[in-house]
Amino acid sequence: MPHVKSHLMRAYARQPVSFARGSGACLWSASGVEYLDAISGVAVTSLGHGHPEITAVIAEQAGLLLHTSNLFQIDWQERLGERLCALAGMQRAFFCNSGAEANEAALKLARLHGHRKQVAQPQILVMENGFHGRTLATLSATGNPAKQQGFEPLMPGFLRVPYDDIGALRRMADESPNIVAVLIEPVQGEGGIRVASADYLRELRALCDTRGWLLMIDEIQAGMGRTGAWFGHQHAGITPDVITLAKALGNGLPIGACLARGEAAELFSPGQHGSTFGGNPLACRVGCTVLDIMARDALPARAAVLGERLLTGLQGALKGHPQVVAIRGQGLMAGIELARSCKELVGLALEREHLLITVTRDTTIRLLPPLICSEVQIDDIVARVTRLLSPGESPV
Ligand SMILES: *Cc1c(COP(=O)(O)O)cnc(C)c1O
Repeated sequence: MPHVKSHLMRAYARQPVSFARGSGACLWSASGVEYLDAISGVAVTSLGHGHPEITAVIAEQAGLLLHTSNLFQIDWQERLGERLCALAGMQRAFFCNSGAEANEAALKLARLHGHRKQVAQPQILVMENGFHGRTLATLSATGNPAKQQGFEPLMPGFLRVPYDDIGALRRMADESPNIVAVLIEPVQGEGGIRVASADYLRELRALCDTRGWLLMIDEIQAGMGRTGAWFGHQHAGITPDVITLAKALGNGLPIGACLARGEAAELFSPGQHGSTFGGNPLACRVGCTVLDIMARDALPARAAVLGERLLTGLQGALKGHPQVVAIRGQGLMAGIELARSCKELVGLALEREHLLITVTRDTTIRLLPPLICSEVQIDDIVARVTRLLSPGESPV
């Protein structure tokens, strides 16, 4: 329901639809119209909407205890930390409430690491088209001038190189003695679904080892099974020093995490970082339940199978389409790049196809379906997107 005189700040361009309930990959508007969700609240509701086990655990924990603060031991936080570290090969976790906060923790670790190495002005290497959040530090790390415009002065201490380009990285390494860490997404999500090659990530790992840099991987969108592995970087067989998570970790309940191993895991001492809400019993117990369900139902492997079906389906259906420049993806992160600006397709998809999609970088349709989709629903997404792009039925 669009509000003529809204009391909300105009930070978002919202579609004129509001949903009243959801189940699995389906959503219903207040008036009962059914929609198919191919974006999962931007890679958040990977277990689908209204998952009965998540609902039950939220209800139970809400009746027991919501919050006590980090002044005390929190058993569910210990458990979730242990589980995530085991899956990711990490040693310690810091919990917060969002992706940007997880990256803030990582950036602070990088600065501490630099100062420990006697680098007075430590610099962090970030990528063109990268996305790391909207706080001032993470916005400064983000490689999108349009999102940064108006918020200058940005935070200093970042150097930027092209993504997936090892030569550019080596040149920057030779020129800049103050680099102490690299922050990178294994698949650029907001940047248009670009997948870093496994060779690049392995060479990056080796470069970080020789230079003493922290390798910090932003798995906020690509992690939690979405790419077909628990974490996107695992396709390259590397282990980072720092990993950031959020989005699907709580299936809609806000939670973020910064994981670390080795020296990076020991950098924070009491009082150096904190969050009032971070790691509360409710969010952490839900995180544990999300991991239980994903492991039991083998959802990372399922995402690989469904992702393959989605990608080959799109490639088959859109083959030779005059407007389609590229179809990219890994697991259930898929992008269809068009030869033109296509933002209006988001509204058209809702209206004509009852399908939720997003457009990133102005020209790329992004699909992030829930990991619990059926094959039929994946084929349905392909059919609806194809119709959307069919001449005669849309302005393409
Ligand atoms: C969404 C996202 C973030 C920011 O997460 P918020 O929870 O919105 O702060 C950071 N990095 C990546 C890769 C993301 O996709």
